Amino acid sequence: MSAIELRGLTKVYPGGVKALDSLDLTIPDGEFFALLGPSGCGKTTLLRTIAGLETATGGAVVIGGRDVTGVQPGGRDIAMVFQDYALFPHMDVTDNIAYPLRIKKVARSTREQKAAEVGARLGLDKLMDRRPGQLSGGQQQRVALARVMATQAQAFLFDEPLSNLDARLRLEARTFLKKLQHELGVTTVFVTHDQAEALAMADRMAVMESGHIRQIGTPAEVFQRPANTFVAGFIGSTPMNLLDGVVRGDTVEVADCKLAVPQSAEGLLRDGEKIVYGVRPEYNGYSAEPVDGSLVGKVSIVENLGASYLVTLDVNGVPVQAVVPEGHEPALGDEGYALPRRDRALIYRDGELVSA
Ligand code: ATP
Repeated sequence: MSAIELRGLTKVYPGGVKALDSLDLTIPDGEFFALLGPSGCGKTTLLRTIAGLETATGGAVVIGGRDVTGVQPGGRDIAMVFQDYALFPHMDVTDNIAYPLRIKKVARSTREQKAAEVGARLGLDKLMDRRPGQLSGGQQQRVALARVMATQAQAFLFDEPLSNLDARLRLEARTFLKKLQHELGVTTVFVTHDQAEALAMADRMAVMESGHIRQIGTPAEVFQRPANTFVAGFIGSTPMNLLDGVVRGDTVEVADCKLAVPQSAEGLLRDGEKIVYGVRPEYNGYSAEPVDGSLVGKVSIVENLGASYLVTLDVNGVPVQAVVPEGHEPALGDEGYALPRRDRALIYRDGELVSA
């Protein structure tokens, strides 16, 4: 078993930056776990502290039931892939892949055999004699992965390993990496600032902000039911509409329009209280004809998303976005009606999700 447990993990850098603030997190054995958050939130610090490349200021790192907080990186039985792959330019692919085995004093013939095996698995068999400078970005990335796989560590740590790839290779690498992790079943922590990547690949994910974890869940949970307005605003290719509102009986008043209370908040609201009404543009219906309980406004922006359009309505001075299928997009200045789906809209009180 190689679950990763973090208990009250804290990291304060010299100079006083608190990059991790008493984090608790358990990543079960075999899970593919993504760490997501804006620049500077502490993702890399968390990964490096798990790896032992940074010393924790407080708390504990437990891997496979063993407290490794005071253990050197080499003694933690984990393998890490960095953003720049950290390949040795003067070594060929075989030696790069076999390097960790050389450090472990594995015999040359065994290491070469292992490197050939893993290299073949990653489609590198024809490139084994080349040096990193003679490889494309995608090939270098596969060498870095092969090196990690050859070590047979208890856990893999990836720090934005796909960030140097172009968009198409990146998509391919995503699918490939996910499949590989699944086959190997090795507990993996993956840092990314690309939420599409986290949503697509992770079994579960954590969204971080300023050294804190703001939500842990499956990609579907985090997308459908963000626990707070920070996560709601951060996750999603187009940010969630977060609209100030006031509860009026069994409706919510937003920008002088009356909306039905979302199903998830039914019976949980107090008359007259101030809330934030959240609905993703994808769950905001759009009509050119008047509809009861909708947000009425004038179309101020129409953006092409490919197969659909992102329409911004000016609702009494408040911008409200809806995704409209291609062929139904309105013209600028048209009157439009946005009708949030009651089963998908959410209510936030003091920034936290209201839910039974
Ligand atoms: P990014 O997505 O930009 O890589 P991140 O989420 O990985 O960011 P970290 O690199 O972990 O963030 O940094 C967290 C905080 O710690 C930031 O405020 C950063 O400036 C600070 N920090 C990181 N490394 C050091 C260091 N060696 N000394 C002092 N402060 C540091």
